[in-house]
Amino acid sequence: MEYSKLCEVYHALESTTKGLEKTRILASFLGEIRDEPEVIYLLQGNVFADYDHRELGISHQLAIRAIGKAAGIGDAEVIDAFKELGDLGKVAESVLGKKKQQTALFTSKLSIEKVMTNLRKLPMLEGKGTVEIKIGLIIELLHSASPKEAKYIIRTVLGDLKVGVGSGILRDAIVENCFKPQNLEGKKKYSQEVQEAYDKATDFAEVFEKACSGDLKKIKLKPGKPVKVMLFPKAKNVEDAFRIVGRPAAFEYKYDGFRVMINKEKNGKVKIFTRRLEEVTNQFPEIVEYVESHVTSESFILDAEAVGFNSETKKYTDFQAISQRIRRKYGIEKMQKAFPIELAVFDIIYFDGKSLIDTPFGERRKLIKKIIREEPFKIVLAKQIITEDVAEVEKFYEMALNDNQEGLMGKSLIAPYKPGARVGYAVKLKPEDNDFDLVITGAEWGTGKRAGWLTSFNVSCSNDGELLEIGKVSTGLKELEGGDLSFKEMTDRLNELIIEEHGRNIRVRPEIVVTVQYQNIQKSPTYSSGYALRFPRITRLREDRGVGDIATLGEIEKEAGE
Ligand code: AMP
Repeated sequence: MEYSKLCEVYHALESTTKGLEKTRILASFLGEIRDEPEVIYLLQGNVFADYDHRELGISHQLAIRAIGKAAGIGDAEVIDAFKELGDLGKVAESVLGKKKQQTALFTSKLSIEKVMTNLRKLPMLEGKGTVEIKIGLIIELLHSASPKEAKYIIRTVLGDLKVGVGSGILRDAIVENCFKPQNLEGKKKYSQEVQEAYDKATDFAEVFEKACSGDLKKIKLKPGKPVKVMLFPKAKNVEDAFRIVGRPAAFEYKYDGFRVMINKEKNGKVKIFTRRLEEVTNQFPEIVEYVESHVTSESFILDAEAVGFNSETKKYTDFQAISQRIRRKYGIEKMQKAFPIELAVFDIIYFDGKSLIDTPFGERRKLIKKIIREEPFKIVLAKQIITEDVAEVEKFYEMALNDNQEGLMGKSLIAPYKPGARVGYAVKLKPEDNDFDLVITGAEWGTGKRAGWLTSFNVSCSNDGELLEIGKVSTGLKELEGGDLSFKEMTDRLNELIIEEHGRNIRVRPEIVVTVQYQNIQKSPTYSSGYALRFPRITRLREDRGVGDIATLGEIEKEAGE
């Protein structure tokens, strides 16, 4: 299929803000790509499935160079146009439009396949000398692109398509196209089925294909391929926890670490994924070692928390102490010694060739007890009691807090596991809870003493895949260099993600998740969410979380008492 056809769809999507209209446009286009379902990735502004975290690695500086070279002008001219238009996609459209008018160079037709092929080569190019090859691949596309096509190519390589297609809209379009539901009830039912399939596969192309052929149920868990983790709502207190999960219930330590899904494939290969589905096997060789030597099973998917501890005092440390290990590529052994972790296993969803997501939690827990040989400070089962007594839970709660953990999880003993869903099969109980995990979507350059640093950050929540701003935060970060939470570190990280610049304000690709504490929530017309956080303060950088893990508008409304 010609890329221009896809660009027409992009344009139509961009021209409306109405979700229903977007769904209709997409549903109709899906009918044309049934034989090439992977085009769906391009509709999402990507070239791989959601579970696949290969990055194109194109910063806005590289995009500027590619545009300049393709248009035969200097970088300075491109930067000037960027300052004026604020969007490199529009810059490409404009400068290439001018060039093409002059030279009438543009003749060949660009195919979707060619765009996919070139963009998919980008992540393989790492290290010295590869930058020019990367730029070359983009220039090749720009040469055979119309100015409009150039706009979308640049936006795609920067990871900011701006057509407003979130996962909710895509899901509804698949339902529309494959099932054509006649009423609201049918729509709801198919929506749920498609969503459940997506949460197992995290791949809209596969879901679309299977939905069309009536094979959604055939989407199965497979060790080695990351699956979305189950999420948990909050309970107000112990009584509330019992009310939600039933009596008796299991209560476990809520460890203050980060979540890992440990997969062992049938061939014996162990792979570790974070909850944002990023593979971190190389960063945590000891986890591989622990499960290889302490878990008896041919294949499995374990859900666990990696918790940091001090090797001398043996006291648990907080998440921030070990979070730097998640992104570390070098000096792993040193990190392992300096920041040791214990694995607290709390669930299992696949065992020896069988999915266990429909097995009651009580049974799943018995199974992990059976197959794991515990060894403190290496691998243990999450500390647990089973009870119906409030006082007993409160005592256990206190114990968890004294042990430097965040609180408790209350879990239904009869509930299944629901990948990706925030269902009340388990709840969290934490003392201070005035915070949300939010993603940084923009920032502002500082002035005076803080010139050269980004010092104020726009944070957003999500609503069915769409990001909505909820405030600007400028406190919580250190002036000093070093550590994750310093202005310098944050500036360095965000610099790589810039997609738009307007004076001192920038917009960035939504990749950095932070925990933001606040005093209260107010209704506000200033931000697109309709709410603003009062006295917000960044307390944590969540390396383990992605945009799929941030607070939803629904949760914010609930907290605001709406
Ligand atoms: P929160 O991050 O506040 O939404 O709380 C949920 C997180 O708590 C999960 O994603 C896990 O990473 C973590 N957690 C710690 N201990 C447990 C446990 N025993 N069971 C389930 N999740 C746990």
